[in-house]
Amino acid sequence: MTTMPTSKPYRAVVIGGSLGGLFTAICLRAIGWDVDVFERSPQQLDSRGGGLVLQPGVLDALDFAGVAHPPGFGVPSKDRIFLDRDGVLRCIYMPQTQIAWNGLYALMKGALDPGVIHAGEELVALAREADHMTARFASGRTERADLLVGADGPLSTVRQALLPGDVPAYAGYVAWRGVLPEAALDARARSLLVETFAFQDGPGHQMLTYLIPGEDGSVRHNERRLNWVWYRALPAGEPLAAVLLDRHGRQHTHSLPPGAVKDADAQALQLAAADNLAPVFAALVKSTPDPFLQLIQDYAAPRMRFGRAVLLGDAAFVARPHTGAGAGKAAANAVALARALQAGGDRIHDALALWDRSQWAADKRLAEWGISLGRRIMGLVQPA
Ligand SMILES: Cc1cc2nc3c(=O)[nH]c(=O)nc-3n(C[C@H](O)[C@H](O)[C@H](O)COP(=O)(O)OP(=O)(O)OC[C@H]3O[C@@H](n4cnc5c(N)ncnc54)[C@H](O)[C@@H]3O)c2cc1C
Repeated sequence: MTTMPTSKPYRAVVIGGSLGGLFTAICLRAIGWDVDVFERSPQQLDSRGGGLVLQPGVLDALDFAGVAHPPGFGVPSKDRIFLDRDGVLRCIYMPQTQIAWNGLYALMKGALDPGVIHAGEELVALAREADHMTARFASGRTERADLLVGADGPLSTVRQALLPGDVPAYAGYVAWRGVLPEAALDARARSLLVETFAFQDGPGHQMLTYLIPGEDGSVRHNERRLNWVWYRALPAGEPLAAVLLDRHGRQHTHSLPPGAVKDADAQALQLAAADNLAPVFAALVKSTPDPFLQLIQDYAAPRMRFGRAVLLGDAAFVARPHTGAGAGKAAANAVALARALQAGGDRIHDALALWDRSQWAADKRLAEWGISLGRRIMGLVQPA
């Protein structure tokens, strides 16, 4: 990483302080830009999310930004194993590394000055000028910058302002998720699921598990966690809305956090697991006290650059999680943005146009691949 000397630092305002926003902040800071991140949520985000497959783009962005990651940053797995209700069907040697969402988030947040992230600031409107953008927040605050980055996720407010009416489409299935301490696993789960990436495929569903670091980042035996994801068909409309109504009577639209699922839905999930999953997987679902849920969605932006505003990460493209590449995509967008701006110097418009062309094509391919994987995995999208 080299720092570009500029006569006056350019300023970026980043909307969204999740992974995409923090990747952007660390990478733009590395080329000498002033960066401020505005995150709607007033709370820390670090209890959100489970595990992620570590993609090269994540390491590239951290290295570019000079953010040191500890050795043993993730948990390696060697084999992919495929189960059915009777046991292991096949085993493929496919080494990879899994990390925890909260560990990656904390690493980047810790690398930024505390004053860079402004929590509890919700973007409500944008104003575009030739060489500047102005962001207006619900608090009444306004911020003017040379560049505005929309890293505000699948339901991006920045996108709503730039491409009104463009929203993700529900793919017809959801991801039920859970995280359990490794220490809570029984002998059967330990022998099958520790240091493997384990799957069970079936009509209209897929279960998978992998180990991730502990809440405190530990990768030591028995201090790690097991992350499970069960993709299940759930028809749009009334069936989906009923599940998205939380235990306090609040209607959600795209996800349910840990602790929000109604007891009856958690019990129905456990019964379906007992009927459909290998016993080792069904036991995981049964022993997870607080499963959470995310809708699987598709979205592809027609472009990522709008004058001095850009969309990146899930605001620009929502790739299905079967690609294991959402965080890597956001990281790649951010590091490519920094490299383009660094190479372009004062020719910011040219740099953004070049960045848009390269990133849009790569992200579109990834999103299409995710759809084809999802169609193959879910088959006829019938409830499991
Ligand atoms: C089931 C599932 C499994 C996944 N597994 C993987 C995996 O294995 N590997 C992987 O790489 N990726 C995975 N992903 C994807 C990954 O989580 C995301 O792609 C990645 O985190 C990038 O997200 P983002 O930062 O662009 O958006 P988000 O994480 O959605 O963050 C957007 C942020 O913007 C904030 N925001 C929204 N609106 C406003 C506003 N108006 N003003 C201010 N702030 C606002 C939100 O509060 C939020 O914090 C998975 C996703 C799902 C659903």
